[in-house]
Amino acid sequence: SNPEIGSLNRTRAIMKEYGIHAKKGFGQNFLTDLNVLKNIVKAAAITKEDNVIEIGPGLGALTEQLAQAAGQVVALEIDTDLLPVLDEVLSPYDNVKVLNQDVLKADLPALIQEQFADPGRPIKVVANLPYYITSPILMGLLESPVAWSAICVMMQKEVAQRLTAQPGTKEYGSLTLAIEYRMQARIAFGVSRHAFVPAPNVDSAIVVLTPRTQPLAAKPYDEGKFFGFVKNCFAHRRKSLWNNLKPLAGKDADKQVVIQNVLAELSISPQLRPEKLTLEQFITLANQLHAQKL
Ligand code: SAM
Repeated sequence: SNPEIGSLNRTRAIMKEYGIHAKKGFGQNFLTDLNVLKNIVKAAAITKEDNVIEIGPGLGALTEQLAQAAGQVVALEIDTDLLPVLDEVLSPYDNVKVLNQDVLKADLPALIQEQFADPGRPIKVVANLPYYITSPILMGLLESPVAWSAICVMMQKEVAQRLTAQPGTKEYGSLTLAIEYRMQARIAFGVSRHAFVPAPNVDSAIVVLTPRTQPLAAKPYDEGKFFGFVKNCFAHRRKSLWNNLKPLAGKDADKQVVIQNVLAELSISPQLRPEKLTLEQFITLANQLHAQKL
């Protein structure tokens, strides 16, 4: 029988047989390290009870490992040239479906209902992401109404550090908060660029997102406006919170006093840099300012 798809030899043989050249425009870097592939499946804690959505199966290296561990796998691949390859290399697995779809355009709740035999089972996303669209993919997953039981994805190391950053660090920002608002994030392990063919210019890391165990202490008055507010707070991240908030008041001195009073009430020093505030502090600050019509 064939060696596993993710082995370097098999990957090279598949590329040669089908005349496949990795497409930069689709962020194609194929994983050719079986240890990494198996550790991704472990980090996602995949069991036969799980429905798995894979984004970008490529040559099927991760898909094969997922098929062995999961109940069912649905993989979304944008590149039509890879479909005949996937059809052939994944033919030993009857629990895998490959759909020719752009994940950014997919209706995920509908897809789950249509594609999985038992859509009520835990649903996980596992992927070696195309790096050029990491943030839009993650935000699309998090903003969809699906209750993900885990999202386990490979991305550029620097992005992984931003997703999992602690307050007070330079990596901490609006992306960190957008993730933390919805799920708990941790880095499972790092991956060298040499685990891929072709090797990208950056190192990578696996991030695991799981549902929050602690509900938020407060809810923002309006989610979209709240994240707009957070972005404004980080507009000049080397300046103080006060300098970032002041534009809310314009030239109106009374409004400036209102902002200062709100900060004082919440015991937040106006001289702090925005990166020092926790998610819950941002939420209460936004709510209080809104209550004061700012
Ligand atoms: N899973 C394979 C592996 O680990 O070797 C390939 C990973 S490669 C980094 C990213 C994959 O995502 C490629 O197969 C690429 O064609 C696919 N892709 C890129 N943009 C996509 C999109 N918008 N929707 C679905 N798949 C996409």
